[in-house]
Amino acid sequence: MLKEFEIIEKIFQKTPTSIFLGIGDDAALFHKNKKEFWVISQDTLNINTHFLSNTDPENLGWKSLAVNISDILSMGGNPKYALLSISVPSANQVWIKKFSTGLFKCAKNYGVELIGGDTTRGSLSISICILGEALQNNALLRSNAKLNDDIWVTGELGLAALGLKYKKRKFDAPKTLIKKAIKALEKPLPIKVNMKKLAALCNSAIDLSDGLIPDLNHILNKSGLGANIFIENLPMPKWIRNNKNYPLVLSGGDDYQLLLTAPKNNHKKIIKFAADNKIKISCIGLMTKTKNIAIIKSDGEPLLYKKKGYEHFA
Ligand code: ADP
Ligand code: MG
Repeated sequence: MLKEFEIIEKIFQKTPTSIFLGIGDDAALFHKNKKEFWVISQDTLNINTHFLSNTDPENLGWKSLAVNISDILSMGGNPKYALLSISVPSANQVWIKKFSTGLFKCAKNYGVELIGGDTTRGSLSISICILGEALQNNALLRSNAKLNDDIWVTGELGLAALGLKYKKRKFDAPKTLIKKAIKALEKPLPIKVNMKKLAALCNSAIDLSDGLIPDLNHILNKSGLGANIFIENLPMPKWIRNNKNYPLVLSGGDDYQLLLTAPKNNHKKIIKFAADNKIKISCIGLMTKTKNIAIIKSDGEPLLYKKKGYEHFA
């Protein structure tokens, strides 16, 4: 059976495209005017695949839009407009109202306007098409990482994966951490910044939806490079670090944080941008020539790691 990426590449991807950038990145890009691109993307959440049936509808409304915003940010764009296609099993007004409350809260928070969509009956599924704007000079393509670039990630990793693990089968971790983890899973918080400005300091980016290692691999494959990742620099809750529960961080997925690569020259500017904008950012490694990922422990030894990220048709 074909895997998710094989289906896209072998069946849907026809080259060349008539626009600047088609299938294969977090979003497509086409010219808006002389200086800007429109950035366009679509992400779907299906019941039991992307969320459990007991998910709070308000959080689900938030998450449906947040995961789409994340794809626009990862191209160096600011999100602007969204179209919502929602399929529900019945016209449950209370549920739909709560869902829309979460969706509109997220829209307001990130400056997005709902401009259209479709409402149908069927098993619960939410699909959003989102449109944003990026500067042509600073769009962040997966293919544009450069040798010796610093590798950065925003926020903290592994929380959402921990939340999912807990929800699927009770899992022994401190209560306050579990609370934070479930919040990260159900209400992801992509960074809220003027992405055009951060993008001006970076070369490439991807948003972390499938897991750090599989997502970083997309950048490596497209840029023809490798990476060294330092475990001690990875931002993760203390409890995960103390228990060496690294798979949550390396291939847990659903983080909706950004992985960015940027010239070393911009290191200080990026730290200043993060401080000015009150976001957490960590330099976790660097881009190398050898086309693989070396995960390095604090003693300098490599960590042997084979686990893969989420694959829909595994
Ligand atoms: P992401 O995880 O960032 O949302 P995906 O892994 O879902 O991205 O998709 C990878 C690329 O393939 C994207 O450029 C996306 O637009 C494209 N893509 C996915 N499914 C299809 C499809 N059925 N037809 C055309 N393009 C697709
Ligand atoms: Mg993405």
